[in-house]
Parts: sequence; structure tokens; C-alpha cells
Amino acid sequence: MTILIKNGSVVSAQGTIQADVLIDGERIAALLVPGDTSLGADLQAEADRVIDAFGKYVIPGGIDAHTHMELPFGGTFASDTFETGTRAAAWGGTTTILDFAVQRQGERVQDGLAAWHAKAAGNCHIDYGFHQIIGGVDDDSLKAMDELVDEGITSFKLFMAYPGVFYSDDGQILRAMQSAARSGSMVMMHAENGTAIDVLVAQALAEGKTDPKYHSLTRPWETEAEATNRAIMLARLTGAPLYIVHMSAKQAVSVLQSAKDDAWNVYGETCPQYLYLSLEDQLAQPGFEGAKWVCSTPLRAKAEEHQQELWRYLRTNDLSIVSTDHCPFCFKEQKELGLGDFSKIPNGIGSVEHRMDLIYQGVVDGQISLERWVEITSTTPARMFGLYPQKGVIAPGSDADIVIYNPSARTEIGLHKTHHMNMDHSAWEGFEIDGHVDTVIARGLVIVDDHEYLGVKGRGKYLKRGLSQYLI
Ligand SMILES: [Zn+2]
Ligand SMILES: [Zn+2]
Repeated sequence: MTILIKNGSVVSAQGTIQADVLIDGERIAALLVPGDTSLGADLQAEADRVIDAFGKYVIPGGIDAHTHMELPFGGTFASDTFETGTRAAAWGGTTTILDFAVQRQGERVQDGLAAWHAKAAGNCHIDYGFHQIIGGVDDDSLKAMDELVDEGITSFKLFMAYPGVFYSDDGQILRAMQSAARSGSMVMMHAENGTAIDVLVAQALAEGKTDPKYHSLTRPWETEAEATNRAIMLARLTGAPLYIVHMSAKQAVSVLQSAKDDAWNVYGETCPQYLYLSLEDQLAQPGFEGAKWVCSTPLRAKAEEHQQELWRYLRTNDLSIVSTDHCPFCFKEQKELGLGDFSKIPNGIGSVEHRMDLIYQGVVDGQISLERWVEITSTTPARMFGLYPQKGVIAPGSDADIVIYNPSARTEIGLHKTHHMNMDHSAWEGFEIDGHVDTVIARGLVIVDDHEYLGVKGRGKYLKRGLSQYLI
């Protein structure tokens, strides 16, 4: 099967060119500038299918480096399965996800990973890889970290938050970082001071402050900036590369920025919710409504002016990637677990379907360039997590993961508009995007075609990843 995408503007991190893209089977065979007849005078007649992308952007498929399908949390499970979550991702122009396999305290890392393989295998619509959460650092799990690198899991997430659940103390973090420094793998950090937060939460509840907004007020920016600084210093001490996930506080990114300025191997991501949503506009809505927007790190106060700074840090590459931290929970029976006690609201927002659109809106709004959009949503995630150039670029030999994006069409996000995630509400209800995912191709198969879904459950393959390509 050959597909020829004609007349489009092919966008990469480096620039935008007019070129036709020839797909042969599951891979990209060639990029042809207008007038290039080296592969034949009339490719159009020879291709099995021709797609006209005139006036549209042809971009590498999105890579969401941070998702939590079926994550057990707070007595329930994230409501998207690998099947529903990867299908929703595909609808939104994401063709690869990296999900977090979970090891809980007392469990063997290999058993946690095997459980994740079992959930994903045969269910994914798009390709997928795993990071490994290390929920209990001990001799066995440190040994497992080395072994997993050979299985294509080259990044390990630790938590400075959630004492008693996923939390690691500084000594444990130090040991895990020493292990990562030896193997060249990446430590990913949830950087919030969890023991301080737990005190603030208990005090708030004791004062009868139970509404969802207190989720943010008990996790102030200082707890993120402090933990970020501590994580960076421990990484510096051990020589481990460090990637800070879901950054929401400008002060935390400022700490990251100065470490990057000193050329340390530290990186950070943010998420769409921190660029667009806030304490005042969403989380602090009257009654229990705000529970929809409880996630950690939390949505922060608009008055503190984080959003403009996060966009700026994306422009300056102090933030390298936008991932979603997709962790959806339904309002009924899931978010409602926290009625009368905000600390029992499952933490998470569903965004896997909307990331490409939401960040494209940043291009329309003048926050980032078209090329930077592709870079932070696809190319850098591929390089950061050892998938480049198989993924993250439109180049001969790369997987034919391609999105044809229409800047002249619109996308209305919301439950009865654009919404394929397994949730009973949308955290993005009412958002409108000046662009639209018209066509999605995953490894050579057209899976979204002009509002029609053609993907197949189980076609997504497990991706064995290499080490981060940003490290020398
Ligand atoms: Zn986290
Ligand atoms: Zn997460």
C-alpha cells in the first residue's frame, strides 16, 4: 500500500517546506519537493491512494509522553482503558503514548511492569511505550531498574509527593539517581514536597475547609519550587539526568532554568491545563464542581501569573515538552469520592485527545511558532525518550505517523461536540480551537479520515525505547 500526500506544508522542528510525502507500507519512503520526478514522472497515478493536503499542515504524529491509562488512584481507576484512551488520542492527532507502569511498595518491579503489559497488549490503537514508576526504592527495585533498560524502559518516575503511596524519601531518591547515572537512564520526578503538603491538608480539613479549591491552596507554589530545587540538587550530586514532570509554578521553572543555564542535564515538561486553566476560573467554582479540575501539581492562581511565564519558558526551551498527564476520572462516583473532603478527590484531568489542538491554539495566539508546536508535542518527546527518528519526524525511513492539520477549520471541544475519552464530562468544555485534525495516519494506516474513525484495536505496538538522545 502506498499513499501520496500532495500539496501540503510539511512542518518539522527545523522549518516548513512545500513537499509531497510518499508512504510505502508502514514507513515514509520519500519527501518530494515540487517538480522532483526522481521517483517517476507521475507518482500520483502510481500511488494506491492520494490525499490532497492543499492549504494544510503535514506534521509528525503527536507523542504524548505522559499518560495514565487505568491507573489505580485513591480507591478507583483512571477511567480510560488502553483501548478507549489510545482511540481518543488518535482522534486528536496523537499517534504514540508513553504510559507509566506502576510498581507499588512491596511489589516486584517486574510484576508491576508485567501487569501493565497485560493491560496494554492487544488493546492499543496506536503505538505505546512505558516509563516505570518506582514506588518502593530498595535493593531489588534498584537492580530491576538496570534490567528494564534492556527491555526498552529507560526512564523511571519517582515521587516526592504522596507519602505512604508512591513517596520516596531523599535517601531513596539519591540511590535511584545513582543507579540511573550508572545506566544512563532518565529519572522523572513528581516534584512537590509531599510531607509539607500533608500537614497543610490536615490543617485545612480540621478548619472545615473541604471544597475542591483547597486542593490548590494546600499545595502552594513554594512546595513545587522547593521540591524542584531539591530534585535538581540530588541529580547534580549523582550525575543522573532529570526530567521534571507536570510543572505548573513559574518559580519552579525558574529554578530549572538556572540549572539548565549551567548546562546540567535537567529538563521539564508542562501540560495544557497549566497553560489555560486556573484556580479562579475552574477549580474554585461553587460547590463541588471544581473537583473536575483537581490534579497534581494543582491549577494555580491566575493572580500569580504562571500561564504567561510557562508559555515564555516553552519559547525559550526551558520547558522542553508539553504532555498531558492524562488521568481521567468520571465525575459521578469517581470525583464524587471526595465530596466533603477535597483530599479524597482522585487527582487527574483527561486531555489526551486535545493536546495537539490546545497547543496549536498557542500558535494561533502568537505564543509559539508553528515549528515549535511540532517540536514540543512530537520531535522533542521522541528524542527525549529514545524514539527518534523512528518517531517524531517526517523523514525517509521513519514510521509513517502523520497528521494532516487544517488551519482553516475549527474544533469545538465538549461532551456532545468533540469528545472520545471515557469520561462523563470534559475539563475542556467550551474550548474552541482555530484548527482541526483532518487526517491521522499511524504506521501507514489511515485511522482518522475526515470525521470517520478507521483505526483498529490491537494494531498499536509496544515500543522498546533507547536512552535519551539529549545526553552525551
Ligand atoms: Zn505526578
Ligand atoms: Zn502523571
